Amino acid sequence: EGRIISAKMAAEDETVEFSLRPRYLSEYIGQTQAKENLKIYIEAAKMRKEALDHVLLYGPPGLGKTTLSHIIANELGVNIRATSGPAIERPGDLAAILTNLQPYDLLFIDEIHRLNRSVEEVLYPAMEDFALDIVIGKGPSARSVRIDLPPFTLVGATTRAGSLSSPLRDRFGVVSRLEYYTVEELTLIVMRSADLLQVGIYEEGAVEIASRARGTPRIANRLLKRVRDFVQVEGDGIITGEAARYALDRIQVDKLGLDHVDHRLLKAIIENFRGGPVGLDTLAAVIGEEPHTVEDVYEPYLMQIGFLQRTPRGRMVTMKCCQHFGVEWPK
Ligand code: ADP
Repeated sequence: EGRIISAKMAAEDETVEFSLRPRYLSEYIGQTQAKENLKIYIEAAKMRKEALDHVLLYGPPGLGKTTLSHIIANELGVNIRATSGPAIERPGDLAAILTNLQPYDLLFIDEIHRLNRSVEEVLYPAMEDFALDIVIGKGPSARSVRIDLPPFTLVGATTRAGSLSSPLRDRFGVVSRLEYYTVEELTLIVMRSADLLQVGIYEEGAVEIASRARGTPRIANRLLKRVRDFVQVEGDGIITGEAARYALDRIQVDKLGLDHVDHRLLKAIIENFRGGPVGLDTLAAVIGEEPHTVEDVYEPYLMQIGFLQRTPRGRMVTMKCCQHFGVEWPK
């Protein structure tokens, strides 16, 4: 995964992300609606000395779901235990995690849509009654024993709320959708990160990075780091508008934040399929990516900017997209 624009987490991001991650709601930029509501729910839970209701966060990768879950724990003043759907393989794994929680702890499950069914079933009574139902024995003598759990808050994150089973989705009291960030919000995030990374930046430079970051803080931070490399090696260490433009052009991220993979994807639809429709699997094969990666990581932003449409018959480019590439709309 060498794509600088990808919103998926790369190994090099991890340490930097940790240091750039806001720790309290007051430092968390944007997502006003989700943030304001959470503030109330957190306050109310603290006043009642209860566990916060379970929270489901959904939206494209890199928008701040993991960050927000850590912030919720900090604001509540509780411990967080973080895991992910694919990491919990057997019901016993989840039971072990749940029985080790302290009262009011926050359990964060990333990619919660990837939990398997048998694990999910352990979660239902845990979420609803703070209890585990354990079956002892086999066959006719088997009986079920209920074990009490400490009260806890589950925060689930997913890129696809639609792939969550409805019994699971229904057990979340708070469901929050994270939105793409505006250029103004991303500009603030870039300025803040530059400050933490101790690199000088002019607002014009931050705007330039923000406007090519696809509405996504993770990408904004990643672009900032690359631009910083250019100004340190080839410039005077300060990110001006000019320097940012130069560096971003060099790493081939265009004015809309599209890179060579986006170009390949869109051009494949235009050139090989006369603008579409083309099925997801075919398209993914043509550009050499996994279908679910195309669907979760690349397409949401292309749809957001009105370049791509999902239709029942497949993917289609729009007139706006053709104009961007200076080609005639094949329709
Ligand atoms: P997700 O879990 O949705 O994939 P993350 O929570 O890992 O996304 O966010 C990626 C990075 O983006 C974080 O490390 C953080 O530095 C930055 N970030 C995300 N949301 C915000 C925000 N609202 N304000 C400032 N930085 C943010």
